[in-house]
Amino acid sequence: MGTPPQLTPQQREAALAKAAAARKRRAEVKAQIKSEELTIESVFDLAQRDEAVGKMRVKELLESFSGVGKVRAIALMERLNISPTRRIQGLGRHQVNELRLEFMKPDMATKPGRLIVLSGPGGVGKSTVAKQLRNAEDFWVSVSATTRKPRSNEVDGRDYFFVSDEEFSRMIAHDEFLEWAEFAGNRYGTPQRAVENALRQGRNVLLEIEIAGAKQVKAHLPQSILVFLEPPTWEELVSRLEGRGTDGAERRAQRLELAQEELAAAAFFDVVLVNDQVESVVQRLVELARN
Ligand code: ADP
Ligand code: 5GP
Repeated sequence: MGTPPQLTPQQREAALAKAAAARKRRAEVKAQIKSEELTIESVFDLAQRDEAVGKMRVKELLESFSGVGKVRAIALMERLNISPTRRIQGLGRHQVNELRLEFMKPDMATKPGRLIVLSGPGGVGKSTVAKQLRNAEDFWVSVSATTRKPRSNEVDGRDYFFVSDEEFSRMIAHDEFLEWAEFAGNRYGTPQRAVENALRQGRNVLLEIEIAGAKQVKAHLPQSILVFLEPPTWEELVSRLEGRGTDGAERRAQRLELAQEELAAAAFFDVVLVNDQVESVVQRLVELARN
């Protein structure tokens, strides 16, 4: 280990003053958390702009919340693999997400909703099911961003947020996605804030996304329920893809090849549902969210 740098008396005084100001700032923030002026969300935002807040220990942060003593703070940190000396600025994205969910105050004393992730091979009927669920009470269906061009029947903001490649890259860089993945030459991602807000308001949330994205969601939010939608038969899947008529022959062949790989992923999912009748799948999803 090298020798510590030699400071002039003035430098030493300045360093001490800076440390004292940082301690004072952290004490202010902790008091604001206690009095519920600041949420964990706003502290994470502050930590990005304010070095003193970024350097606050996670343990101190957690213990500032009313009802969280040393024991719960330590247990929570152990569960999320956060080392006892970790500072806010050193938290991983997954840990930040988990802490956000843990401390999310449900509006009007509602309990947070459930997050259901619907995946399955292309053409199985995911978007048909999702469309029906949009009308179900207490369900909010997330709208993804994609770099894919809109199909003739699709509306920007309803089916997807259609964005440029540059905009998608900007969203990744700003950590705006809960998950994102590349699929058949385009990028798709779930905007994180909107999902969190809906859950906080007690609404059940449905993500209709491909398999790699579903796995990312499970890794970030283990309480999510992954549902795999299967076709009754392979022949039925082929006929649905052809019947949809949205892709040319080459694109369809590409999608079928992908579908074969996708079908093999069912084992990873919490629940497998066969899409024979759209209504019964919708019913099952509503029941899953209730339990
Ligand atoms: P995905 O979103 O999984 O790619 P779609 O929702 O676009 O699939 O459905 C593919 C085609 O299958 C569509 O033409 C749709 O109308 C049809 N379809 C969906 N569910 C069923 C079902 N249960 N029975 C018969 N056809 C269905
Ligand atoms: P399509 O181009 O047919 O609308 O969608 C292609 C695939 O992308 C589908 O499997 C769909 O579920 C998936 N998808 C749609 N939105 C998202 C998203 O936000 N994230 C991920 N990972 N996949 C998505």
